[in-house]
Amino acid sequence: MCGIFGIINAADAARKTYYGLHALQHRGQESAGIVTTAYDAARKRAIMPAIRNFGLVTDVFRDDAVFQHKLAGDMAIGHNRYSTSGSSTNAANIQPFVVHYRNGNLAIAHNGNLSNATQLRQLFDLNGTLFQTTSDTEVILHLIAQSRQFRQRDQILDAVSQVEGAFSLILMTDDKLIAVRDPHGFRPLMLGRIDEAHNQGKPAWCVASESCAFDLLGATYVREIQPGEMLVMEKEACETGNFESYLLKPTSQTAQCIFEYVYFSRPDSRIFGEMVDKVRRKFGKTLAHEAPAPFDSKGKRTIVIPVPDSSNTSAMGYATELNKIYCHEGERDHFRFEFGLIRNHYVGRTFISPGQNARELKVRLKFNTVEGVLKDRIVVMVDDSIVRGTTCRQLVKMVREAGAREVHFRVTSPPVISPCYYGMDFPTPDELFANQFEDIDGMAAWLGVDSLAYLSEEGLLEAVRETNSIPPNYCTACFTNKYPVPVQVPKETEKEAFEFV
Ligand code: 5GP
Ligand code: MG
Repeated sequence: MCGIFGIINAADAARKTYYGLHALQHRGQESAGIVTTAYDAARKRAIMPAIRNFGLVTDVFRDDAVFQHKLAGDMAIGHNRYSTSGSSTNAANIQPFVVHYRNGNLAIAHNGNLSNATQLRQLFDLNGTLFQTTSDTEVILHLIAQSRQFRQRDQILDAVSQVEGAFSLILMTDDKLIAVRDPHGFRPLMLGRIDEAHNQGKPAWCVASESCAFDLLGATYVREIQPGEMLVMEKEACETGNFESYLLKPTSQTAQCIFEYVYFSRPDSRIFGEMVDKVRRKFGKTLAHEAPAPFDSKGKRTIVIPVPDSSNTSAMGYATELNKIYCHEGERDHFRFEFGLIRNHYVGRTFISPGQNARELKVRLKFNTVEGVLKDRIVVMVDDSIVRGTTCRQLVKMVREAGAREVHFRVTSPPVISPCYYGMDFPTPDELFANQFEDIDGMAAWLGVDSLAYLSEEGLLEAVRETNSIPPNYCTACFTNKYPVPVQVPKETEKEAFEFV
């Protein structure tokens, strides 16, 4: 996963990009970078200064002065990284990438994962192309540089027509900002506008993975970059917003990532045409009908707790709907939404001393229980997904230790059974929790819960359809093993396959 942001015609473009990346921090915490355009008077040519490093946005950009000096300019792109392809420890892989070729400077920020990068890279290797990174994104730059097209936009169109898989891209040339989304539209990409009043009297335009980046900047959400669209934004057209838009080779169906709604995006974002909060709440409501939790109408209320923060919204939907279904006029509620697990937001890398139970401590560093909420109660833990199951198991143990009478576990998405090859960092099929058991009872026993239930695949799709007024098609490969774009299952550790350092 990654967060990308770009802006054109902006006063203080780099600082606005910094705010944009800050809002998108949840999409990647390994590294961050910003590139701007500037003119080097001494060398009489355009340049693209960059600051990139490992760490969070606030770690990489500690010195405010860089925004006035090194990163001055009215156009910028930025990237937050969560590696899926290419090593996470190789500094060369930190985006945005910047190169210089016959048509000038070129910078690129990519969210997604190319499914034919290995084949393309092998072809380039045979021709003697020298790669600077081990990331799949670099092949796009070589395709642009080696294109036989004359105009730069045609070179880019030529390049992005040859790559397959998932790519939401923001490219920056010396005078243009270019946003591209693959024809399936796997990853989100939004267009926003900052009006004159907030940008020194001229409109600025921005592109971001999620609309929550616009809110922080006072930008308004305009629309999505469409699946298969390449939008070329030039300064001259910023007044009117009449940018040139090109269409890549269309596919029969779009395949937007449903896991963005389940887990990845922020609830305050609008993606794929709908608010994440609304869709996520609906997942919880649908699950309340499919898999209600027990209650004791004469005893204390059943407590519904989210595993914060990712399932807060869906757990609320679940609890509200259960009361709607089971509580009749004049009766008191049977269920109560509570916070029984508290999350520490400041866990970065923490040292674990030898001898300590690393797995247990890792979870305890992140979560603690609220005994007053859980003691002697029937507790329903709601989570958005189970990947390896190790966190869930530990949390169940902690909730029991806090005195819960019964523990029921509800997951607001179907079992994750297949890895993602389009930009989500999931483990191999064998490591996935759901693949390690014969049936749901086996899973429940291992987790140590009184009952376990997942949202059905139909329920998931139905919830999206009901909330999203223009229902597009979704990629559900992680839940169904049906991959919309053929994938080459990577051999051994593909992620490190090109490592040379
Ligand atoms: P598990 O019990 O499988 O170890 O962890 C489940 C938790 O992982 C859930 O709370 C879910 O929100 C979270 N999760 C789901 N997908 C991802 C992901 O791609 N990356 C990370 N870091 N966490 C995830
Ligand atoms: Mg979670």
